[in-house]
Amino acid sequence: MKMMKALKYEKAGRANATIGMVPYPECGDNDVVIKVMAASICKWAEWNHDHGDGGTLAKYPVTTGHEFAGYVAEVGKNVTEFKVGDRVTADNAIPCGHCWYCKNNRPLMCENFGSIGHNINGGFAQYLVVTQDNVVKFPDGFPFDEACITEPVACAMEAFDRADVKPGDRVIVSGMGPHGLILAQMMAHSNAGKAVAVGLRQDRLDWLEEDGAETLLVDRNDQEANLVKLQETFPDGVDCIIDTSGAWPLCATMFKILKKGGRFIQYGSFHRPIDLENVTQFLNDLHFKNQSYIGVSCQVKNFPRSVEYMVTGKVKVDKIITHTFDLDDYFEALDTNMTDRNALKVVIHPNGDPEAPQEEF
Ligand SMILES: [Zn+2]
Ligand SMILES: [Zn+2]
Repeated sequence: MKMMKALKYEKAGRANATIGMVPYPECGDNDVVIKVMAASICKWAEWNHDHGDGGTLAKYPVTTGHEFAGYVAEVGKNVTEFKVGDRVTADNAIPCGHCWYCKNNRPLMCENFGSIGHNINGGFAQYLVVTQDNVVKFPDGFPFDEACITEPVACAMEAFDRADVKPGDRVIVSGMGPHGLILAQMMAHSNAGKAVAVGLRQDRLDWLEEDGAETLLVDRNDQEANLVKLQETFPDGVDCIIDTSGAWPLCATMFKILKKGGRFIQYGSFHRPIDLENVTQFLNDLHFKNQSYIGVSCQVKNFPRSVEYMVTGKVKVDKIITHTFDLDDYFEALDTNMTDRNALKVVIHPNGDPEAPQEEF
């Protein structure tokens, strides 16, 4: 039997995980087998497999990793769009097609999500198999390390879509982790009248400014000073705030400059209890000011447009990739992602140097 190396969790928790040999995946008639050249760590999702319960989508045993890119290694007999050697990534989300939401054209809310890396074997392996419907091509030469970041770009695009930015809108993207950095670039290339990236770290804001984005440095502990800066930057208020920081004190400050009819998109999870003195007042403010509070957490079917944004350079992810590791060092990679405050995206190479010429796939 043909074997390959993979990270495999028998159930949630590192004690139940091994990096070892497993059977090479079988390629069905409508499938594509991908030789994974790069797979990035989704910090909280992978931490949850490693330290938590894996989350609602998890089904074990499973090979994790939902952000990946590689070469087409094999195609099923019905596959005509892809050939061996193509550079590809694949949408990790596989809505069931038959639940109420799927039947009502809202696959994002599917009740029975198939999810590569959570309940279908994923990218922390030398190979994975995926239905051709989910595969998306990159042009030859586009680096695998960047291509594997398509999933975060696709999720950010969901927030971008839901923000529904109109020509001339004034917009804030707050929080400068990978998703904030991606969204700030999308906004800089949108039809917003003014789009400002708000963050705590000058080095990350500098990087956005080099690409022409407008930025504002804020202070984690001084919301009064932050409010003054925000009011100076937006004397007439903002139409839309997309928060990726999950920092409620900053969100509460930004709400003070959200215009009537404005939209607040919660794209980051709040990891600490929210200190909101007067919930009634807060909700009534939303009501009387006709504001919208919108939750966004994931995506489906945004991959082709995301690839387009990356290939055309509207969203650049090269600087977001801060570390690379071999598959054998996966746990060190995950720990680095959690503990190194300079880590943004940590990328795993299951087949050695991703850009080395391949003798075979
Ligand atoms: Zn992810
Ligand atoms: Zn469904």
